[in-house]
Amino acid sequence: MKHTYDVIVIGSGPGGLAAAIAAKENGAGDVLIIERDIELGGILVQCIHNGFGLEIFDEDMPGPTYAQHFIEKARGTGVDTLMDTMVLDITPDRTVYAINKSQGYIQLVARAIVLAMGCRERTRAQILLPGSRPAGVYTAGTAQRFVNVEGRMPGEQFVILGSGDIGMIMARRLTIEGAKVKRVLEIMPYLTGLTRNYVQCLLDYGITLQKQRTVNRIIGRDRVEAIEAVSVDESWNPIPGTKEVIPCDSLLLSVGLIPENELSKKAGVLLDPVTNGPYVDDRFMTNVPGIFAAGNVVHVYDLVDWVTEAGYVAGKGAAQFAQAEAIPEGKQVALEAGENVRYVVPHKLTKASLAEELVRLQMRAVTPIEERVLVTVEDQDGEVIAKKGEPYARPGEIISLTIKPKSFEAVQKAVKLTVNVRKRK
Ligand SMILES: Cc1cc2nc3c(=O)[nH]c(=O)nc-3n(C[C@H](O)[C@H](O)[C@H](O)COP(=O)(O)OP(=O)(O)OC[C@H]3O[C@@H](n4cnc5c(N)ncnc54)[C@H](O)[C@@H]3O)c2cc1C
Repeated sequence: MKHTYDVIVIGSGPGGLAAAIAAKENGAGDVLIIERDIELGGILVQCIHNGFGLEIFDEDMPGPTYAQHFIEKARGTGVDTLMDTMVLDITPDRTVYAINKSQGYIQLVARAIVLAMGCRERTRAQILLPGSRPAGVYTAGTAQRFVNVEGRMPGEQFVILGSGDIGMIMARRLTIEGAKVKRVLEIMPYLTGLTRNYVQCLLDYGITLQKQRTVNRIIGRDRVEAIEAVSVDESWNPIPGTKEVIPCDSLLLSVGLIPENELSKKAGVLLDPVTNGPYVDDRFMTNVPGIFAAGNVVHVYDLVDWVTEAGYVAGKGAAQFAQAEAIPEGKQVALEAGENVRYVVPHKLTKASLAEELVRLQMRAVTPIEERVLVTVEDQDGEVIAKKGEPYARPGEIISLTIKPKSFEAVQKAVKLTVNVRKRK
């Protein structure tokens, strides 16, 4: 096996596949994807529902179909793959240490790396859920894998905690497979997933969502027998007199995703405490030269199409870096989260690159605004550089805004840029 690659991509989900394809298309010689699973495609392999590809293909596809398109493209462009191989460590000088059954411990060197390790689900321990510790408590993604990949039902009577997308999608899936989903409980006063999933997965199947309500206690010794639900106030304190015991044999947790960045930290990549992903510029390069990141490892995306787009940008940057051992730095300007914005990605705009192509900003609102909003990018003097109207702003749905090359002059003069989401006057 060759030991030096132009670009090594870690992870073969939509972010990694797009990055590898783009690296090849932009002149990188040897490009390798390392994947710990036995199949390419990442999380999409288990997402057999439709709802993928609406933005890129204008088509409503199941996850595996969407993935297959890019798997074939990667194979067609000559991307190498190393499957069933776990990356254990990366260094700032871009040495990659991995392990697999046939070759044992492997050491590879890359001129550029793209981190595309996706994210993982929050577990019971991370939300400090009290009660006994019986079998029957699963994360929604684990249950999804059981049903869609292993062909096994994890239970018969479910309560789902959290209104994230995976939980709502699983509420529908389990109902189709004959289980009873008794309730979806959400601690926040608003939905945390996409509205379309609420309509298509809960409303259409008569499944009740209760907001500002959570699991107070899990009941059962060997197997879950019931959960105790309770309403909470704004500070998440239980409201007296609102407890209800709901008999069930399984509890699914859909309580958030965390970008998978243990490897990134080992390589010296700095993480944004709000996104839990790397600080990146508009080419998705991290603070470590030559190490790029794409997809859910950067921040948790709601739509796969934007993951693919980010993968293309990161892969192109990685190819340029691999060929030049650097990319023209250019002056950079910081992008900051302003009014009602929790975070914005990328964190920095490279002034020079904006002259060539548009840059997509992605952000999440802090609190919902259920009326028309104006999203603005403003310079230090409040001058509007880019803007966009939206019918509403909801924390569960990413807001996307592009800065076009025509704003190049204005960005050249800016010292910092702030992104705001305000009610439209
Ligand atoms: C349940 C669910 C439902 C969704 N539904 C929709 C939908 O309907 N429509 C839509 O547009 N989007 C949907 N999404 C969102 C979209 O699927 C994700 O945003 C996208 O798949 C993320 O891609 P990724 O490449 O960043 O990560 P992933 O697809 O998670 O891929 C990461 C890969 O990295 C590998 N990896 C991690 N660490 C290592 C390591 N150390 N060594 C080697 N390999 C490693 C993993 O095995 C994995 O294959 C859904 C997501 C989920 C989880």
